[in-house]
Amino acid sequence: MAKRKTGIEWLLVPRNNSINHILKYKDKVLIDFYNKFTKNHIDANHKAVLWAYYNYLLNDIPNKTKNIYELNKSLSSIYFAMSNYRIKHEKTIDTRLKQLAIDSELKSIFPLESYKMEVVVITKNNCCSYCDSFKNNAFNYEYAMNNEIVDVSKCQNKIRGFVGTLGYRPKRDSNGHLIEVDDFISSNSTIKKKSSLKKLSVGCLYVFLFIMAINTIIIIYHMI
Ligand SMILES: [Zn+2]
Repeated sequence: MAKRKTGIEWLLVPRNNSINHILKYKDKVLIDFYNKFTKNHIDANHKAVLWAYYNYLLNDIPNKTKNIYELNKSLSSIYFAMSNYRIKHEKTIDTRLKQLAIDSELKSIFPLESYKMEVVVITKNNCCSYCDSFKNNAFNYEYAMNNEIVDVSKCQNKIRGFVGTLGYRPKRDSNGHLIEVDDFISSNSTIKKKSSLKKLSVGCLYVFLFIMAINTIIIIYHMI
């Protein structure tokens, strides 16, 4: 029986949702890895190369990221890619990888000093009762950082498993106003002026993070 040909062309097809593109790695990194790996593993097919490349990225990414939040964001992308690989090529839902992906994404959320923030879980519509339970629900930032707010093993979707991402937004009081942290509140007018500017910044940040969250979930759908 003829051996299936390995092909770097398959791996290097330009895709906006490829892990290389997401992590901003140059194609040359993958080409060099491919050449080195297939030299030492002559029988390796493209799936074996890709899986080995994921592991290479897990080890390499700490050298390429500037802080713990950026590192966790990148790790989350790699774990999501590995999880999607299992679903697509092995027809297996790997809840361990999905949990690592969502936990890393949670740990990628950086704290803001000025305002109380909260975390929302954005899930696939009409997935299951567990995923639906996140609708109209938000978690205080501090609570989210210290508790497992998402348990992917509870999702009842038997085809893709849990599909979702996290959003981050300023917390509002019952009147819809942003909530400042106690030590930031001051009667000083200069501080108040700064406060207005910061409210504007936080508003922009919220819009940015929301767009990022939607982009992430679109990428996840396309990767599966
Ligand atoms: Zn579900």
